Amino acid sequence: MKGRPYPISFFLASLLVFVSYLPAQDLGPYFKKIKEGIYVRAAKPADSNAAIILTQEGVVLIDSGHNPPDSQAILKAVKQLTPQPIRYLINTEPHGDHTTGHFVFSPPAVIVAHEGATDSMKKAYNPKRNEKLMTDYPDMRESFQGFKMITPHIEYRDKMTLHVGERTLELYYLKNVHSESDTAIWLPKERVLFSAAVAGVNRFSNLRSFVSIPDMLSSMKMMKALNPEIVVPGHGAPGTVKIFEETERYYELLLDRVGKMAREGRSLDQIKKELRMPEYDDWASKERFGTNIEAAYRAVKK
Ligand SMILES: [Zn+2]
Repeated sequence: MKGRPYPISFFLASLLVFVSYLPAQDLGPYFKKIKEGIYVRAAKPADSNAAIILTQEGVVLIDSGHNPPDSQAILKAVKQLTPQPIRYLINTEPHGDHTTGHFVFSPPAVIVAHEGATDSMKKAYNPKRNEKLMTDYPDMRESFQGFKMITPHIEYRDKMTLHVGERTLELYYLKNVHSESDTAIWLPKERVLFSAAVAGVNRFSNLRSFVSIPDMLSSMKMMKALNPEIVVPGHGAPGTVKIFEETERYYELLLDRVGKMAREGRSLDQIKKELRMPEYDDWASKERFGTNIEAAYRAVKK
C-alpha cells in the first residue's frame, strides 16, 4: 500500500535545507558564516572568537564567547539554526574571555579541554572580575544570572579525535604558546582550523613567562602542514595561513634583533629600552611588547 509520505518528507527536507542555509546576517550582528554549517562570532576585533559547528547529531561550540552577553547571543543563534542540542564545547584556552560563559551551555554541553585547563581556570578565577564587568557595564548583569564557573569535564592529553555526526574534529595540544592549556581544532574534511591564541591579527600577544617563541614557531609550522583553507585565530578576523606567515615573520625578526643585541653584550633591560620594531607600529596592544622582548631574550640565551 502506498501512503502519502512523499509530500511530507519533501516538506521536511526543504525545511532542513532552509534551516541549514540560514544566512549569517539573520543570526544578528557579528556572525560570519565561514563554511556550510560553521559560524564564527566576535563582537569586537579584540574579542575572542567563538564558533558554532552544526552536525547531523547536534552542535559543537568552540569557546563560549568573550563575555556572558556574547554567550547569550550564541545560544540564541544556535536555537535559530537548529532544534538539536549543544553536545560539546571545546576550549581553545582556559582564560576568562573564552570560558566565563560556559554556564550558559553547560549542563548539558560537555566541556573538552587539554589537561591543565581546570587547574588554570581555578587558579585564575577572580569573582571581582565578574563584579567589575557588571559594575562597568550594567547591561551585563542580566546575562550573568545563574553564573557558575564550569570547568572541563574531559581533559585530553596531546591529541584527541571527536566524531560528531558527519564531522570529525581533531584536537591538538599547542605547548607553551599562550596559556597552560591551548588547543587547536582541525576539521580535516572542511579544512577549517581553529588555531587558538598562538597567532594574533595585527596585535601583540602577552607572552607569559612559560611561553616559548621556538615552541610557538613549531606549532605554527605544524598547523600550516595541515594545509587549512580557513584559519580562525583565538582573536581577530578569520583568514588563511597568512595569519601564521605574518606572525612567524614578526617573531623571526624579533629573535634576530634581540639575538644581535644580546651577542653585542646588551642586558635585557638595555634591549627593552633600545629595541625598536617600526614595522609593527600599527599593531594593537603595544603594552605587551615588553613581554615579547623577554620571551625572545629567553630563547636566544638558551
Ligand atoms: Zn588568553
